[in-house]
Amino acid sequence: MPDYKAPLEDIQYLLRDVFPLMPFCQELEGFDDVDEDTCDAILGEAARVCDQLLAPLDASGDAQGARFEDGDVFSPPGFREAYQTFAEGGWVGLGGPEAYGGMGLPKTLVSAVEEMIQGANMAFGLAPMLTVGACLAIQAHGSDELKSRYLPKMYSGEWSGAMDLTEAHAGTDLGLMRTRAEPDADGRYRITGSKIFITWGEHDMAENIVHLVLAKLPDAPAGSRGISLFLVPKFLPDEQGEKGERNTLSCGSIEHKMGIHGSATCVMNFDGATGWLVGEPHKGLACMFTMMNYERLVVGIQGIGVAEASYQGARDYALERVQGRAAGGARNKDASADPIVVHADVRRMLLEMKTLVEGGRAFYLYVAQWLDRARYGSTAEQREEAERRVALLTPVVKAFLTDRAFDACVLGQQVLGGHGYIREWGQEQHVRDARITQIYEGTNGIQAMDLAGRKTRACQGALIAEYLDEIRAALSDTPEDLGYAVSAMKAAIVQLERCTEAIVASDHDDFVGAAAVDYLDMVGYVSLGYMWMKVARVEAERGEAEVPLHRGKRRAAKFYFQKMMPLTESLAQRILAGAEALEIPDEEL
Ligand SMILES: Cc1cc2nc3c(=O)[nH]c(=O)nc-3n(C[C@H](O)[C@H](O)[C@H](O)COP(=O)(O)OP(=O)(O)OC[C@H]3O[C@@H](n4cnc5c(N)ncnc54)[C@H](O)[C@@H]3O)c2cc1C
Repeated sequence: MPDYKAPLEDIQYLLRDVFPLMPFCQELEGFDDVDEDTCDAILGEAARVCDQLLAPLDASGDAQGARFEDGDVFSPPGFREAYQTFAEGGWVGLGGPEAYGGMGLPKTLVSAVEEMIQGANMAFGLAPMLTVGACLAIQAHGSDELKSRYLPKMYSGEWSGAMDLTEAHAGTDLGLMRTRAEPDADGRYRITGSKIFITWGEHDMAENIVHLVLAKLPDAPAGSRGISLFLVPKFLPDEQGEKGERNTLSCGSIEHKMGIHGSATCVMNFDGATGWLVGEPHKGLACMFTMMNYERLVVGIQGIGVAEASYQGARDYALERVQGRAAGGARNKDASADPIVVHADVRRMLLEMKTLVEGGRAFYLYVAQWLDRARYGSTAEQREEAERRVALLTPVVKAFLTDRAFDACVLGQQVLGGHGYIREWGQEQHVRDARITQIYEGTNGIQAMDLAGRKTRACQGALIAEYLDEIRAALSDTPEDLGYAVSAMKAAIVQLERCTEAIVASDHDDFVGAAAVDYLDMVGYVSLGYMWMKVARVEAERGEAEVPLHRGKRRAAKFYFQKMMPLTESLAQRILAGAEALEIPDEEL
């Protein structure tokens, strides 16, 4: 089994040369005291923790899985101890406000750490990820009392968080949910109902688990407008705010599933459990979106983390495994065969993986910068522009990065041939783990509908036009020797604009639904093209490159524009073909 190594060198390259972190922090409010040495030290220490503490538990966690016994859930051996060390190291609260015990660091830096955690051990990484998402929702919508009582315990990692939306008959369509909330004394509520698929809903790693539960009040309007959000802890805090009496909620079972075996996916039963309202009655879905939008970005990052692990394994294997001879004549004349990396098709697979993983990493960092501007921008105008860009690109990070990450993991498996299919080399686990990222946090189909419908058609394409203006401005100012990239980008943008117009103008009921996934992919390929443009530009300005990483970036950029970007042409054709071909009666399917 190859060892995962956090991609520190590439992260440092991106945060130094492509999205320089220090000048960026100076643009924001409240980061004057963040310095380069501290950021480097945090990244270096995060890489060490991920390589030495979390990655060694990834395969064993997969093999042994979480265990359910009489209502209790036991994490795989080693997870509990690793969680204690992880929490004590302050990793849960890295981006949390200092007022609640966090370190208050910008999202741009934190997202790089998140990738390392998810790449090292995705099943484990889900626990802090859900905790931070729950904290953000409490912070944005909870009462002062809820914030002061829960956030310090959660950001310290002593208490973990869980997100309880899904019910057996209510997945995408949360308006169908049946969980009820009855007002009780002292502003409390009694929550009754059953939730399924709740990640880390029950476990033995933290002393308490804080559930954010969606439920309906007795006077709730029908559908998704009648949903409220409640904070429901496993143990009620006592007078001192410490873990007190057990609440009436329990885990009924855990799922047997395809991947992320190390994490527990729980059925949670609420039996008149005590909870507190978060935000206003009936506005719970909007409050939950604070958590969901954060989780969607991190799910995209998860995809890149797992695909990076797969890429590392595939690249190392391709350099070692000897089979056949190079087309132009033997490379290893003294040996019986050449390493498989001599074969063009193997390099094609590795370069597809490299451009998607490294381009995807640049893209999530780019979006994280917009997220920081949205929160810490110095003017209202800057914050509003940033909000618009984050709204547009969140579904793209979630769906494009996870779809391409899954493709990349399958390529990684393919590079290993039959050895990719068996357990020993870890590639089959990456494929199984990556698969869920396309499904949870709103399926990728739903993300695409969000992009093409709410974020494009509903605003007459205004959000995408603003984004494309930014890209065009960057293209106009690009060195001449990047002409190959500029022309590929310009052609793709023209196609994307045609497709946007078609989506905005369509009068067929199903046009948006039929076009959505292809449209999201187009925006994704153009976005990664924009990232590779930025990288290619940095390298063009560098001149002579001594370091293999820099030379590799130049070649990868060329590969991206010649071999990946043309995919946008066929996507445009599919979009413009409309919805007619999808008209088929049920009985003919
Ligand atoms: C391992 C795992 C962990 C999870 N963790 C959590 C968690 O922590 N908390 C939580 O609350 N949930 C969690 N989930 C649930 C997950 O978010 C849902 O499974 C997911 O959102 C899809 O819901 P569903 O499974 O009910 O599918 P459905 O909603 O039944 O969808 C089925 C198919 O129909 C499509 N579809 C549905 N509606 C539409 C529409 N309007 N337009 C177009 N297509 C549509 C979907 O895209 C999908 O392809 C988890 C699930 C799994 C498997």
